[in-house]
Amino acid sequence: MHTPLHILNSVFGFESFRLEQEKVISTVLRGEDCFVLMPTGGGKSLCYQIPALCLDGLTVVISPLIALMKDQVDALRLNGVAAVYLNSSMDEGAQNAVIQGLRNKSYKLLYIAPERLFSTGFIELLNSCSVSLFAIDEAHCISQWGHDFRPEYLQLSALKTHFPNVPVIALTATAETLTRKDIVEKLALRHQNIFVSSFNRPNITYTVLPKQDTYRQLKKYLLTRPNESGIIYTLSRAGASSLAEDLVADGFSALPYHAGLDTATRTKHQTLFQKDDVKIICATIAFGMGIDKSNVRFVIHYDLPKNIEGYYQETGRAGRDGLASDAVLFFSGGDVMKLRKFCEIEGNPEQTMILKRKLQLMADYCETHTCRRQWLLQYFGEEYPSSCDSCDICLTTREKHDGTVIAQKALSAILRTGERFGIGYIIDILRGVNSSKIKLEHLNIKTFGAGNDLSANMWRSYIKELITLGYIRQTNDQYPTLQLTDKSRDVLYASAQVELIKPNISAQIVPTERVRRDRSGTSSAQIALDSQDNKLFERLRILRRTIADRENVPAFMVLSDAVLVELAAYMPHTTGELAQISGFGEVKLARYGDDFLREILLYCSDNGLKSRIHLKVQKRQGPTSNDRFNRRNFDTKRASLELWREGNSVQDIATTRQLAPSTIMGHLATYLTSGEVKITELVPEEKIERITAGIIRHKLSPESAITPLKEELGEDIDYGEIRAVLASL
Ligand code: ADP
Ligand code: ZN
Repeated sequence: MHTPLHILNSVFGFESFRLEQEKVISTVLRGEDCFVLMPTGGGKSLCYQIPALCLDGLTVVISPLIALMKDQVDALRLNGVAAVYLNSSMDEGAQNAVIQGLRNKSYKLLYIAPERLFSTGFIELLNSCSVSLFAIDEAHCISQWGHDFRPEYLQLSALKTHFPNVPVIALTATAETLTRKDIVEKLALRHQNIFVSSFNRPNITYTVLPKQDTYRQLKKYLLTRPNESGIIYTLSRAGASSLAEDLVADGFSALPYHAGLDTATRTKHQTLFQKDDVKIICATIAFGMGIDKSNVRFVIHYDLPKNIEGYYQETGRAGRDGLASDAVLFFSGGDVMKLRKFCEIEGNPEQTMILKRKLQLMADYCETHTCRRQWLLQYFGEEYPSSCDSCDICLTTREKHDGTVIAQKALSAILRTGERFGIGYIIDILRGVNSSKIKLEHLNIKTFGAGNDLSANMWRSYIKELITLGYIRQTNDQYPTLQLTDKSRDVLYASAQVELIKPNISAQIVPTERVRRDRSGTSSAQIALDSQDNKLFERLRILRRTIADRENVPAFMVLSDAVLVELAAYMPHTTGELAQISGFGEVKLARYGDDFLREILLYCSDNGLKSRIHLKVQKRQGPTSNDRFNRRNFDTKRASLELWREGNSVQDIATTRQLAPSTIMGHLATYLTSGEVKITELVPEEKIERITAGIIRHKLSPESAITPLKEELGEDIDYGEIRAVLASL
């Protein structure tokens, strides 16, 4: 039997497992049930596709979306995997052929919808083809608590009765605890193997823009990314259609996609999008789109989504290939008012409250002054330690100030009223509002009126920031109350310092250009590569397109954008070198390898370029011994140096090598002592002076903590620059 890692390398062409994939796979191979929670784009499919290839017999994948089955199966076949689907969209002849194939044991994976499983005679058929694993995709559809309940999924509760000995793997991207429990119970999973991966999507940059002059802002944004694919979500069908029309009138390649269009049109539009024949899809949020396209470079919310779960799932459709992508949301308070109407569920006040609360949190996210990534991850119950450098908040210079007194006042108001009240009440206490709402005994507490120097809006903003920073906990009840945390006790009793950002209540405008400028370093293919590589990338893209048309599949399935970036950056010259490119499995290598090599060789000989494969850290090597590890460290620094010597900027190298800019700076700084790199080449002279003065003032050595100096020097000097100057002294 081949090992999972071997299959990952040879069939899928990837070098290492992501997130929890490896643990999940070994659990499944032990024959145990498991439940996998991973963000959209995290890599759930391999969790059952690899076991399917390791195990004897058939893996049955249950999936709610017929549209997705075909794509998944096409993608598997391109990697040489015997996969097939069976659904109601096929005519009888085609269905019979598949059934015959199943009897002959010709397939390793079968994709079906849940209702098919219990159709007449199907269980008997499966019994005859020795099923080794059931994979239940989008498992949250089984739960009424989820946001996407599908009654036909309930039938799956009977799965364990019919196949008590076949392991089940349930997968979803929905995080809610209630839903999670429900799934495990309904499916009667025998083992409590629950794998929760981080929900962080590091390659997505989050931006919220005020909804003013929206169409013009949108156009401006789209003009900066002419060849890229994206999805624009609108609230209404009419909105989606008219937006698509406007964009087409303005020369963009766009089509609508919503439930008001007939099935044939929808399928047509989706296929055109998948195949890159149309670049932009304008879709409603209400419609659960079966879009599984790895090179979606941006997801734009033209209107406010109804809740964070939906928003996160939609933004998650960007950048599945791991390349830098954007999530942009246009926000206005008017949208909140509009959506509140949709929250009213007649005769169900409880559900109405839940929906309203979820909407309020969505608005809070838009109005936050703290790192959006940190905010989102906190929402999903995850801690993210620092700011992210890839959201509009972190990318904008914001004035920070000592907020210790403000925090102490707020915390004290919460404490003295018994941690039982919501944000509005606490603000009234702080501002000393003497209304009938305020309980008599609270009129005399010390904090009553202690914060009347700030407006209610300012307080609201500060308290929300304190929540995001973990100084205050907001309960998740129908009537959320504010409570203290361990961190807040440090502030109250040990005078821990709190840093807050000055709220900008009136407007929170981040010019669209920012998005572009700031992401240039870490952004997608075309921008990341230098102009030489870029031309090659374009040629490879055209070649891929030709192949995709020939095979009648979407281009990204032939090779993802990430693979093209690697090809253009490393310019492999031989089949052996090509095999080192991530994403080239054995079948794709045999099928398309020569075509791509020919194109690269032609281009390189025209332009006098050599292979740069030596710059790529080897994949598919055995276990790393210490010695090898050291050598690899050495190589990785050299690789950065060589790219730098070729005239690439630190940002460019960081993107090409998928490392942080500060890491690259670190690599280059190691060559300061040997004189191969001069400090003046790395850091502008004016900055060197300021940093050197600071180093002397703080008496820093290369081992010292540099945070205090960094904070003193401000935003325009980064850690990498300080470290480099320190190393040069
Ligand atoms: P999900 O179903 O969780 O949304 P997918 O299974 O579609 O995500 O995977 C998203 C993308 O990541 C796919 O393009 C897939 O090929 C890629 N991928 C998954 N696992 C790996 C890995 N270990 N290395 C590199 N790419 C991976
Ligand atoms: Zn951030």
